Amino acid sequence: MTIYNFSAGPAVLPKEVLKKAQAEFLNYADTQMSVMELSHRSIAFDQIIKDAEHLLRELMAIPDNYKVLFLQGGASTQFSMIPLNLAKGKKAYYLVAGSWGKKAYSEAVKLSKTIPFEPILLASSEEDGFNHIPEISAKDIASDAAYLHLTTNNTIEGTALYELPDTNGVPIIADMSSNILAFPYQVSDFGMIYAGAQKNIGPAGVTIVIIREDLLNTEPVLSSMLDYRIQADSQSLYNTPPTFGIYMAKLVFEWLKDLGGVTEMTKQNQEKSALLYDFIDQSDFYQNPVLNKENRSLSNIPFTTPSKVLDDKFNQEADLAGFKNIKGHRSVGGMRASLYNAFPKEGVHALIEFMKAFEEANKA
Ligand SMILES: *Cc1c(COP(=O)(O)O)cnc(C)c1O
Repeated sequence: MTIYNFSAGPAVLPKEVLKKAQAEFLNYADTQMSVMELSHRSIAFDQIIKDAEHLLRELMAIPDNYKVLFLQGGASTQFSMIPLNLAKGKKAYYLVAGSWGKKAYSEAVKLSKTIPFEPILLASSEEDGFNHIPEISAKDIASDAAYLHLTTNNTIEGTALYELPDTNGVPIIADMSSNILAFPYQVSDFGMIYAGAQKNIGPAGVTIVIIREDLLNTEPVLSSMLDYRIQADSQSLYNTPPTFGIYMAKLVFEWLKDLGGVTEMTKQNQEKSALLYDFIDQSDFYQNPVLNKENRSLSNIPFTTPSKVLDDKFNQEADLAGFKNIKGHRSVGGMRASLYNAFPKEGVHALIEFMKAFEEANKA
């Protein structure tokens, strides 16, 4: 049976990449050691992390005045590092269109009890179950604020923001965890971008931070590990970085570049997601909860059947048929197909065939 992994993260990785890692597993580049056994200060690892950075710079066309950092602690640690490094004494705006954005805002509120800054919830679609991206107006934004935080792709709710709002000159900080390298965002439109690797880049344990140099703090913050300036000045080697994860990210970047980069990925992601959305739209049985079509995510597609009982049945039968991890997030239920870069188009075709058969067998 063919297995298709629809997991939202940690997610499917390209088979070619896993095979390359397997082939090099015991003896990396004639070192007679595994990448995992290399010193993070060795020449071999230095080459790996430099290659990973160069490839990412090329893939995203990252301008020279941005630093690329490979950190740990997941995207969730960024929820605190961002205000800690950037917001002291200032206003910090949050556009909340999903559960992860809400978490980022909540963490900022918590931190504001000990660090002097003012987190402001600029807009939220929570009352509508995060079924759309709320509008904001530049005139509500003070131009001397530290940043406006937003999430480019709402992994749980299946919405995405493709056109960035006017922020009255305030830098945008984006949580791009679930659509980095999946859509051609211009890095120069952001003050900072961050992403946990486990969705579109590699294994869990690496967090990518891309930050404009002028935003790096000049005064040290509370802890060295949480200080972007220190992490940047030590080229992500202040302490032992997640070496194997960075190596895997490098392999994924190579794979992506060979395929044609972000332009080609965007095209494939549009094709894959359109197949599923078109099928859902023509069906009276399945529904996608996103209100506006232009807010639909290319990466995570939630859907439901006419009832919770049928959703449970779908999830059970899909799992047995080889469609793994398609259950929706526990907070929203239903199903969710995550179609990241490494997810094959055949898997979407196979899912649609399964959905057709399920509808036929279960429609009223
Ligand atoms: C998965 C996810 C997170 C959480 O990432 P961790 O690396 O587990 O902290 C944050 N934001 C978004 C948009 C996500 O998809």
